[in-house]
Order: sequence, then structure tokens, then C-alpha cells
Amino acid sequence: MRIFYDTEFHDDGTTIDLISIGMVREDGTELYAVSSEFDQAAVRRHGWLMANVWPTLPTIEPARGERGLTRLDLAHPDVRPRAQIARLVADFIRSTPNPELWAYYSAYDHVALAQLFGPMSNLPAVGIPMQTDDLVTAAKLAGLTPHDLPKQADGHHNALADARHNLVMARHIDTVTSRTTR
Ligand SMILES: [Mg+2]
Repeated sequence: MRIFYDTEFHDDGTTIDLISIGMVREDGTELYAVSSEFDQAAVRRHGWLMANVWPTLPTIEPARGERGLTRLDLAHPDVRPRAQIARLVADFIRSTPNPELWAYYSAYDHVALAQLFGPMSNLPAVGIPMQTDDLVTAAKLAGLTPHDLPKQADGHHNALADARHNLVMARHIDTVTSRTTR
């Protein structure tokens, strides 16, 4: 069964720091988690992430009269330490029959997911796919470009909303593929 997922991350050219991950299975089962450990100060300095990703995260305002910045709501149930997210992701994948990982422009997503377990050699040997298939490649093989795929109505850059849209795009590619192979 295919698992469609998306990650949001801070990429500085050297490190991929996971912010959030959303996963949607073909049977509708979902997982969403936000890391409690990403570098909030670095994200605050990153204009694009502040404009596009930060507003989708659970945050709290400083109390009235209190100085300070909006910060990640560490008490929110979606916000978890990386080790806990790693366990949830591993359980989610391992509970999926014949799991395949799929993402859209998937290269960075795969690294962000795999690094939950540490370096590449730490990826659990049993039950976690060693690569993520790319919807862009699937589209290309179906004779489509990314522009031919369904457009996401809302929720852009919320990892779960993006993962749900990955499923929508995959279904579209499936339709085109079965049409052309008939
Ligand atoms: Mg995204």
C-alpha cells in the first residue's frame, strides 16, 4: 500500500532540519507531527519559512504585557520530540501492508524522514523502505508534467494538507496511466 507524505524543513545547504511531517495512507489513515526540536531562531530568520510554514504550525503568543515572540506551542499534542516522531513514523510504516513511500519532489523529504533515525546506516533494516518514490517521476512516465496535475486548493505548506494533496495527484496519475495502458 502506498503512503503519501510530505515534510516541511529548514534547509541551510548543509543540514535538513525537520519541522513537520504529514503522512496519508491509501486507506485514509493519517499521521501528523511537528518537531519540538527544530531551530526556531533559524526559522525566524528565514523569510520564506516565516511566510509560508510558520503560520501552519501550532504557536502561542506571548501573554499580554509579556515581552517576546510568538513561539512553538510545545504543549500542543501534535508537537513531539524527534525520537517520538521516529517511533510514530516507524510504527505507521510497519503497520502498512507492503509499504511504499511516495512524495512530490521527494529527494529532500526522504532525507528528512530517514534522518529521524540518524545517519543513513541507522535506517531500521526491517520494514522501512530505503527510498521514496517521486510523484514527479510517475507523472513524467505517464506523459504529464507537474503543471498537468491537480492544483491544491488550500493548506499549502501544512505537511498533512500537502500529503493529502499528494494522494490526490497520485490518483490523477493512476487515471491517466490506466487510460494510456488500456
Ligand atoms: Mg509541503
